Amino acid sequence: MARAASLALGILRAAGVTCWAEIGDVLPTAVELTEEERRLLVDHVEILSFLRLAARRPDGTRTQTVTVAVCPECNEWVLVSSGPGPSRCEMTRGCAGKPVKAAVATKEKPGQQAA
Ligand SMILES: [Zn+2]
Repeated sequence: MARAASLALGILRAAGVTCWAEIGDVLPTAVELTEEERRLLVDHVEILSFLRLAARRPDGTRTQTVTVAVCPECNEWVLVSSGPGPSRCEMTRGCAGKPVKAAVATKEKPGQQAA
């Protein structure tokens, strides 16, 4: 799921848009996805509309990237903006996991399997 978010943010960047709604149903042709990656996006389509890529507004201010942090212990997730992610799990009471933030996927390492 963190991988789906990472992948989706990479697609937003490649498409030059800031949110999934601007992509609509058509993926940019510049982005080549494997069958597995497509399935990943379909499986986690509910999070895609929450993701935002940082952008500069016309007035010069910047909007923040919104991504997800996924807890490796309980697998719960939370939306987080740019900057440091949560240092401990706040999704499940008593959970000791440290949520891992999904970063924007880049094209530098094609076919790379994210952990
Ligand atoms: Zn947790």
